[in-house]
Parts: sequence; structure tokens; C-alpha cells
Amino acid sequence: MGKYQSYVKVNIDALEHNYFELKRICYPSKISAVVKANAYGLGAVTIARELEKIGLDYLCVANVNEALELRNNDIFLPILVLGYIADDFFKAIVQNRIEVTAYNFEHCKKINEEAKKLDAIVDVHIKIDTGMGRLGYLIDEKNIDSTIKEIKKISELSNIRIKGIYSHLSDADGEDFSYTKKQYEKFMNFIKLLEKENISIPIKHISNDAGAIVHGYYLDMIRSGIGIYGYYPSKTVEYSNKVKLEAVASLFTTVSSVKVFEEGESIGYNRTFKTNKVTKIATIAIGYADGYPIQLSNKGYVKIKGQKAKIIGKVCMDQTMVDVSNIEDINIGDSVLLYGKDEYGELPIYEIANLANTIVYDLICGITMRIPRIYI
Ligand code: PLP
Repeated sequence: MGKYQSYVKVNIDALEHNYFELKRICYPSKISAVVKANAYGLGAVTIARELEKIGLDYLCVANVNEALELRNNDIFLPILVLGYIADDFFKAIVQNRIEVTAYNFEHCKKINEEAKKLDAIVDVHIKIDTGMGRLGYLIDEKNIDSTIKEIKKISELSNIRIKGIYSHLSDADGEDFSYTKKQYEKFMNFIKLLEKENISIPIKHISNDAGAIVHGYYLDMIRSGIGIYGYYPSKTVEYSNKVKLEAVASLFTTVSSVKVFEEGESIGYNRTFKTNKVTKIATIAIGYADGYPIQLSNKGYVKIKGQKAKIIGKVCMDQTMVDVSNIEDINIGDSVLLYGKDEYGELPIYEIANLANTIVYDLICGITMRIPRIYI
């Protein structure tokens, strides 16, 4: 990749493999790919387009701008906005067939007015807060009656159709299953109550990847984010016997300099590393402004031609220094693997996430826009 000093390789075959693996376990439930945050950093339009081609059912995004980007690029799948929608966007959601997360009657009423003006119907998914403490109607004893009343009122709005009802699991990737089970049961009991009131909603969904892979709560649809990109949600790697996911992203940069330093030289900002022997050091062309975590300073490692090279000194904004004393044949222009796979082998992203004291989601979402996404 001589043209690019740093880039992330996005493996579309792996993406498709993950989709079919998830489909295998959750069939006949639908799969919704969560492509918010630019498809977790990997490029929402391309990811959505590739998944649309192979039969994906749905897309989820966090906000209207993300949904409009997909529509403006001729993605025709249903798109559900998971987050808040400001009034200024109501016209755009009606015009672009964007589905809405509903958790407030007044909000729905205003959307209904806009839909009426444009002689259109807007599909909404009612959000229930079963224990995440974020968006959604509360359904504990104190609130359950008022929530049912509100949902009824929403169902009576002339230009709103309730297409889905959903909740979000807060600890499906945790070791203790009991809270997740409680959330699931609370959700299902509430749906039964709604059905008693003659409110029957076609698409019920509660699971993120951990909910689906670990707990098997598929319902009518799962919302897959990290899994479709080939990563197990934290602490669920042990469930790799249920689905075999393939990491989609590999992050690369290039060696920009190789020098030999004498003992006692300091390397990088604030002199946090001092050579204690003659040391061969390579500078590589990536830094925290590319989304390579500063927390890896003096802690992380990269691989060059399959060999480990430890990060020394602080990760800089655009450059990082690594100890290459043990790598004999190293030159300016050599490829550097930061995580993922190259022809020499693998550098698991989980290890880098641990060393940076963060999670895989944060690493890939954090790849900044100056890194080209190369689809293979
Ligand atoms: N559903 C909702 C409401 C989310 O916010 C997210 C991601 O944050 C997901 C599903 C997908 O989660 P995961 O990537 O863990 O599968």
C-alpha cells in the first residue's frame, strides 16, 4: 500500500462471513446492523451497501445525520434512529422514510403533524427502559399504567405506525446473567400486557450481539454492531464456540525512520523513556490524532514482519517510536501492523485494547478521518 502511510484494511469477506454466522444462529429473526459512528469507524456507506447486497434486513444509526448520509448514498434498507431526534429534522425523517425511536408522546405528536402535512406515514419503534437507565419508557409498578396509556395514544395517531418495540441490555456481556434475564423477562411481560390491551407490535427486539450470542434472545430481530465487525463483546470471547467471527479491521502504518541510539538517550516528549543500552529505534507514521491511543505510551507494541516491537516513549500526535533492536532487516517504508492481520500473522486487537485500558469498540470507533479505509 505504497500510496498510504497509514490505513485501515476493511475485509468485506470477513464482514459477510460474520453476517452469515449471526444469521445462522438467529434465523429466522431479522438482523439489523448497527452502523452508527460511521459503522464503528469502518465506513457506514460501504458497510451498509455490502450488507444490503447480501440480504441484510435493517440498519440502525444513532442520529438523523447518519441516516441521511445512508439515504443520500442510495441505501434503501429500513433505517432506525436509536437516539434523540431534534424538531428541525422531522421533515427530513418523513421525506426519507427514516424510522424513529419513540419514548415520548409529545414528540410523536409533532412528528405526526409533519407526516400529515406531507401525506406520509412514519414508522416508530417504542423504546422501553428495562434497566439500562437511558432512553425509553419506564415500566416499573409506578409507571406502567401511564406508559401503556402513552403507547395507546401513540398508536392512535393518524400518521404514525408502531412497527417495533425494543429495549437495550446493559450487561449482556457480563459474567452474571441474572440482570440480563430480568431485563428480558420485564420486556416480555410488558409485551404480554400490551397484547391484552390489543396492542400488538410486529418487530420486538432486545439483543445486541452479546444478548444474541451469549443469551440467545433473538425475538424478531437482533441489533448487531461489534459482532458483525468480527469482534466478540467483552468477556464473551469464550462464546466463540457458538459463532466464529472474523475481525474485519487491520490497522497499518509505515516505518518512517530507523536510527541507532547510544545508552542514556531520551526518546519522545517529556523524556519518559531513556535507553539503557545501545538501541535501534524506528519511528512509525501514526499517532493519537489517527486514533492510536496515547495510553499505549511505553506499554503497547506493534508487529513488523511478524516480530514484536515495543512502543517506547509517549505516542505523539502523528508519530510513535518503537524498539526494533531485535529486528535485523528493517527499513524506511516497511509495513507496520498495529492490530489485525498481515501476511506474517496476527496481532489481536483485544490485547491492544487491554494494554490501552479500553475496549475494542473505542479503538475502532476512534480511528480518525485522516486514516483511509481500504476495502478488500
Ligand atoms: N442496540 C443499541 C441501542 C445500541 O446502542 C448498540 C450499540 O451501542 C447496539 C444495539 C449494538 O451493540 P453491540 O455492538 O454490542 O452489538
